[in-house]
Amino acid sequence: MEKAKFERPVITRINAGVPDKFGMKTNIRPVTEIDNNSIRELLSEFGSPLFILSEKTIRESYREAESAFKTRYPRVQFAWSYKTNYLNAVCRVYHQEGSWAEVVSGFEYEKAIANGVPGNKIIFNGPDKSVKDLEMAIANGSLIHIDHFDELYDIIDLTKGSGNKAKVAIRINMDTGIYPQWDRFGFNYENGEAWTAVNKILTAENIELVGLHTHIGTFIMTAEPYAVATRKLADLAVRIDRKFEHVIKYIDMGGGFASKNTLKGAYLPGSDTCPSFDDYAQAITDALINSDIRHDKMPTLFLETGRALIDDAGYLAGTVLANKRLADGRRSLVIDIGVNMLFTSFWYEHNIVPAQDHQQDTEDTTIYGPLCMNIDVIRGAVQFPLLEKGDQVVISRIGAYNMTQWLQFITYRPRVVMINNDGEAQVIRENENFDSMNMLDKIPGHLEEINIK
Ligand SMILES: *Cc1c(COP(=O)(O)O)cnc(C)c1O
Repeated sequence: MEKAKFERPVITRINAGVPDKFGMKTNIRPVTEIDNNSIRELLSEFGSPLFILSEKTIRESYREAESAFKTRYPRVQFAWSYKTNYLNAVCRVYHQEGSWAEVVSGFEYEKAIANGVPGNKIIFNGPDKSVKDLEMAIANGSLIHIDHFDELYDIIDLTKGSGNKAKVAIRINMDTGIYPQWDRFGFNYENGEAWTAVNKILTAENIELVGLHTHIGTFIMTAEPYAVATRKLADLAVRIDRKFEHVIKYIDMGGGFASKNTLKGAYLPGSDTCPSFDDYAQAITDALINSDIRHDKMPTLFLETGRALIDDAGYLAGTVLANKRLADGRRSLVIDIGVNMLFTSFWYEHNIVPAQDHQQDTEDTTIYGPLCMNIDVIRGAVQFPLLEKGDQVVISRIGAYNMTQWLQFITYRPRVVMINNDGEAQVIRENENFDSMNMLDKIPGHLEEINIK
């Protein structure tokens, strides 16, 4: 029998629930399994570190968001934001749920087509669409969201005298009370550029203005800016109808809903402060139905929510490599998860907990990753129990952006598994290895021989 571990006696002040002037009380509970799969077994079967996605949580969050909107407005269509997580299995879960694809590059466009999304159910956003990309999108009848006048001129060129009509919307940026304002994408509302773009499109020959689009920012922590943005787009639709007798078929409110993560420097945890899907849906749909758009011409409402749909479904599990004392006496823990695979650690105070039972006593701890880089800090200061080499940890709410913005650096990127609705873990992306990493390297002839004596 293993000897019981010594736990040193400590005196701790009792905090009752709410934060005091020192912040939140510490209450760490281990996470030992995800959807009935033990973390220890997952790591021993698939290697450490390991990305773990819950298909059940993806579907549940999606249905919750969809129902928040569909109960309040008759015509709603979600489009999955590929850049938030474009692993093919993940995209296909959303497409099975009925979501269209929202892409921001030729590469993402090709992925959507390869995932079986019909061309006319792809929304093509972003400032970088090549002439070749535009040709493909026009031929497929995709919804092209124009970002700037140069792109509009390319489309006018491509469609002139051709039988192919381009279906377009314009992306519009505006003052919604959120600062700094995101004004680098699309046409500005207040300075009249958006109106000029509308006029140019509606007087052009083979271009059909089908929608109006905005994406006001990301991690927007109140619902009110969405009401402001919706009112502005609805007013524009009314003005277009008045001048051109042209009906706008859809209004696309983009993404940007906050997930339950806690931003660095935030006083309260994100799970307490983040608006619900109902809050956002209420703000947007109220503004839309109360607008002056004629009741028999109500547009379809598109949503491109990314992070709020998938953050909760993702976990990153890893292993403790070492314990250290820093020069000032603080405890530090080194784990095998680096910031290169947890890109969001630059913005979030990620929730990290042990994956097995642990001592109750906690100490102020810095948690480092394995990279030979000073910036490789997963948590700068966190109350954490003493773990030992070989113990395991789990970071939760990491489903958004980490599996697309991850950097290959120093180590191979790990596997990703998804636990399906039957509770079975399946690999949805292999880990990198020596061959896959060297596949793209080329060695010029004169460097074939090396010369070390
Ligand atoms: C990134 C992006 C989204 C998704 O944003 P989230 O903040 O993750 O919801 C939606 N639409 C556009 C145009 C985007 O660029």
